Amino acid sequence: MTESGKTYSDPISYAAPRSLDEAAELMRGGNVTVLAGGSDLMPQTQAGRMHFQPVLMNIRRVPELQGLVEEGGVVRIGALVTITELLESALVRERLNLLWQSCDHFASDQIRNVATVGGNLCNASPAGDTLVPLLALDARVVLAAKPNGTLQTRRVPLAEFLLGPGRTCRAPAELLTAVEVPLPPAGFAGEFYKHGTRPGLDIAAISIAAGARRDGALLRDVRVAFGAVAPTVIRAPRTEAVLEGHVPDAAALEAAVQTALKEVHPISDVRASDWYRRELIRNMLMRILTHVCQL
Ligand SMILES: Cc1cc2nc3c(=O)[nH]c(=O)nc-3n(C[C@H](O)[C@H](O)[C@H](O)COP(=O)(O)OP(=O)(O)OC[C@H]3O[C@@H](n4cnc5c(N)ncnc54)[C@H](O)[C@@H]3O)c2cc1C
Repeated sequence: MTESGKTYSDPISYAAPRSLDEAAELMRGGNVTVLAGGSDLMPQTQAGRMHFQPVLMNIRRVPELQGLVEEGGVVRIGALVTITELLESALVRERLNLLWQSCDHFASDQIRNVATVGGNLCNASPAGDTLVPLLALDARVVLAAKPNGTLQTRRVPLAEFLLGPGRTCRAPAELLTAVEVPLPPAGFAGEFYKHGTRPGLDIAAISIAAGARRDGALLRDVRVAFGAVAPTVIRAPRTEAVLEGHVPDAAALEAAVQTALKEVHPISDVRASDWYRRELIRNMLMRILTHVCQL
């Protein structure tokens, strides 16, 4: 919406900035629609579910939004990094394997080649595939703006960034520049599971990312996150607490599953009923936790 409250079925002008500074300058008025891969934006605008701001800004020529690098124990993934690039990255495959697995379940090659991690985050779908592992891995997003004419950035934990379906705390004048993911501790192993109505090329009816590391007989650094069972992707802190520092015997795993069922709040929609989603959580979380304990 513009200051006068207007949005448009077609944008009035098009911009393709070549630097972050230029992009942030264009966004100062807050009347810009950001275009990355367009795989959410274009279907949503064509279906009338979303309307353009007066300026359509293609960010694909902004070099500061590219790149995937590890520094000081944190992996910085530029907003424009595509799902294909994540899949091809040895760093992601070896050190952020939960994220890698989610990309391996993401859409088709054609969509993976254009879909960016920044677009997946800003679209804020409760079923967004990369959001679930990124939440489990304690990721934070980096937002940039030029409120007083100088470029400023702020970092927001992903759990605070996501407010509801399609809603984030990103201000209209802010651009998401990157997502930062702390490397999980050595020995951390996890598994991502996605269930759709078809075995492939489907939006998740539920998704789960769970992981931990073994410390002798005990589990440490337990992480459990779910997609498509609440208005945003969610962490399950009470489920994690049931397992943290405990021997993962059958009773502990069953207690974790029962706790998880109290932490999720699925709805019934075109993809699955509330009942079916709960059954999937019950069965698949048990299977994943059992696998994680064997890794
Ligand atoms: C056929 C099909 C299959 C799909 N399958 C899956 C799937 O399996 N799993 C899944 O998670 N998603 C899926 N999607 C959804 C979509 O592909 C992803 O959400 C994708 O990551 C969006 O990225 P994008 O670069 O295309 O974003 P865009 O469509 O360009 O943008 C999405 C939104 O984010 C905003 N935006 C983008 N980048 C930024 C930025 N850097 N800063 C601020 N705002 C920004 C845009 O303004 C827009 O509102 C599918 C889509 C299609 C069409």
